[in-house]
This record gives sequence, structure tokens and C-alpha cells, in this order.
Amino acid sequence: MTGPRAPRGTYDLLPDDAAERDAVVAAAARVFGLYGYRRIVTPEFEETSLFERGVGEATDIVRKEMYTFTDRGERSLTLRPEGTAPVCRAYVEHGMHKLPQPVKLWYYCPMFRYEKPQAGRYREHYQIGAEAIGSAEPAVDAEVVLLLAGIFAELGVEGVTLKVNSMGDPQCRPAYVEKLRGYLRGREDELCGDCRERVDVNPLRTFDCKVETCRAVLEAAPRIGDHLCPDCREHFHQVLGLLRDAGLDPSLDFRLVRGLDYYTRTTFEFDSSRLGAQSGVGGGGRYDGLVEQIGGPPTPGVGWGSGLERIALAMRGPLAPPRTAGVFVAAFAHEARPAAFACAQELRRAGLPAELDLAGRSPKGQLKQAGRSGARYAVLVGLDELGDGVVRLKDLAGGGEEDVAAADLPGVVAARLEVDAT
Ligand SMILES: [Zn+2]
Ligand SMILES: [Zn+2]
Repeated sequence: MTGPRAPRGTYDLLPDDAAERDAVVAAAARVFGLYGYRRIVTPEFEETSLFERGVGEATDIVRKEMYTFTDRGERSLTLRPEGTAPVCRAYVEHGMHKLPQPVKLWYYCPMFRYEKPQAGRYREHYQIGAEAIGSAEPAVDAEVVLLLAGIFAELGVEGVTLKVNSMGDPQCRPAYVEKLRGYLRGREDELCGDCRERVDVNPLRTFDCKVETCRAVLEAAPRIGDHLCPDCREHFHQVLGLLRDAGLDPSLDFRLVRGLDYYTRTTFEFDSSRLGAQSGVGGGGRYDGLVEQIGGPPTPGVGWGSGLERIALAMRGPLAPPRTAGVFVAAFAHEARPAAFACAQELRRAGLPAELDLAGRSPKGQLKQAGRSGARYAVLVGLDELGDGVVRLKDLAGGGEEDVAAADLPGVVAARLEVDAT
């Protein structure tokens, strides 16, 4: 093929896969509804400054991965690389602080990041996510975690385990970061080049490093969990209690930190044993400083995101139900084609799925196509032996036939399909 292809790192969802995707999102939407979360849709692109402020100029996302462009009006715009900043922007812009708090929102949309494509990682990838904005209560942290666990259970995502940590807050984290920095300076020779830079700029990010020697150094590093202030310790204690009471078994993971100031307290991640080395299937945390960071009033918030491609890899099996079986209308004479066309349209008006030949097939070819289409019944129009206004209804599964007045056809087919469905 020499023409254009789908861009690197993107994919098409062909009808079977799109039906499966719809079923996954519909199942997730049912669970969001159980928890009282309502869907929000934000633009595919935002002002670039939103992500510079709301994701962080020092992050890989902002430095290397954003699709940023200047539009014809000389505005700098960026395709949404993540979901939280846009939702917080909408919360502020529409004065949602006047609503009962927290405001509980969910989204399903594509995210765009210029990353190296690999299994389950795309430059355009789809996420579902939830944000609960406006309450600092530990119950909200627990609720969003349980919400994601509930979605995984509904979808049949297998081998799921939960890791949690607390990152403290502006009361206790600065002193901890200094302690960590001091420790890392003492073992600087053992760190990789990237981590040596991180010691000065943002020592928390050394926890992300995959280099063995760095991991060994971090294993013995001071841990935030031992340096939380009493308020943060109590918050974390309550979150853990609620999760355990609800039947989850969270394990503490000191490496689960995020190197940005507006992330506070709870962080969490779900892994699936079906996913191999890159086992994360969804995660998030609290971001009490974010709304203020993007120009709103001080507002607590907590949420998560989960990639649909990762979810699909971790699911037990597909969800999509078989297509609703309907009717294929076949014209048995050239002159009968307009009548067949009208017949299909009558069935659709009555809410019944109906297709007909659109490729000039012979009667035999049309019956073959009826079988391929998955139709339950064929309607034969224009047979010589039938009188005016009469068609033949053929049961493609059972093999029986009966002649029906065209005017009665929608009622007869509806009754048959109803019987089949029970
Ligand atoms: Zn390193
Ligand atoms: Zn604290």
C-alpha cells in the first residue's frame, strides 16, 4: 500500500473491536452511575499553558511528549495528554464549587502523547477516568479506589492487586524531601546520570528509576511513610481502614510517589498479573494543590485514570454481545427492488433491524448474503407465485416459510423476534 496509513502509534477500531469497546465503556458507565459519578466531556485540545501549569513544566509529558501546535490565530494549543487538568479547568471555569461538594465526574476520551510505541502503549490512547473535586475527606479517596476496583470486577479484569502510599502534604513533605536529598547526595556515585540530576531538581523522581543500582540505593532511602505529619498519618490510616473494610487488600509501596508539588497524600495503582513487566492497569491519587495551580481557588481533589488498551489486555474475555439479529430483504425480480427497498424501510420504522442488497446481486446471491449478514429472517419480495402486496417470510435458522401481507410484515416479524428472544 503506497497511500496514507494510520499514523505511527495510532490504531483503527474496526467494527467488532469498536463494539467490544462500546460494551466496555457501557459496563464502566453502569458502575460510575452506581457511585453517582456523571460524565464530563472536555475539548480534545486546550491552551498549552493549562498543561504547563497543571502537569508541570519539568515533567517528561510537557518537555517531550505533548502534541503542541500554533493555530491560525497564533494561539499555542496542545492535544490533551492527560485528563485531570482539563476537568479541573472546567470545574473552575463553570463555577462548580457552588454545587454540592465533592463534584464527581468521569470521562472517556483519547489522550495524545508522543511516546515510543510499544505493546499496549499508543500515541493516541483512550482512557476512562474519574475525578472527585471539592472534598479532602479520606472517604473520597477510598471511594474513588473502590470505584475503579468495581469497574475492574465488572469487566472481568484479572489478577488485580492494589498498591497504595501517602505522599504527605506541604506540612510534612518539604522536610522529608530534604532528608531524601541529603541521603542521595551521600550515595551519589551509585546513581545513574538522570538520577544525579534529579537529586537537585526533584529527588522524589528517583523512585521512578528502573536502573538496578539506583533501585538498590532507593531501597534503603528514608521513606515518606515514616515522615508524615499527624494529619497525613491519620488521613492515610482512615483511607486504609475503609479500603480493608470494603474487602480490598492494599499493599504499601514506598516507590509510589509523584514528583509534583500539587500531588498530596494518597497515591495508588492497580496492577494486573496478566500484563507482565509493565503491569499497571490504572492509578491515581489526591491532588489538593492542582486547582490552585491552574488559577482556581484552593480546592482539594482526588481521581484516577485507566487506559482502555491496558484494560483490554487484562480482561478475561470479550464482553460484546452478538449483534441483534434482524431481517434481510431480498428482491426476486429487478422490478421488485423498489418494493424491497420500501419494505426494509418499513421494518426499520417499526424499530426492527433490516438490511437489503446494495450491490446488484442475483436472487441466489442475495440469499447467500442474507446468511452472511447474520439475519434471522429473510423476506422475499417479487416472487412470481405471490400476489400483489404479499411477501414470503423465510426462517433462516429453522427453515420454515410463510406468506405474509406486506402491510402486516412489521407486526409479524416483531412478534417472531420477540418469541425468539425468550
Ligand atoms: Zn537512576
Ligand atoms: Zn502532612
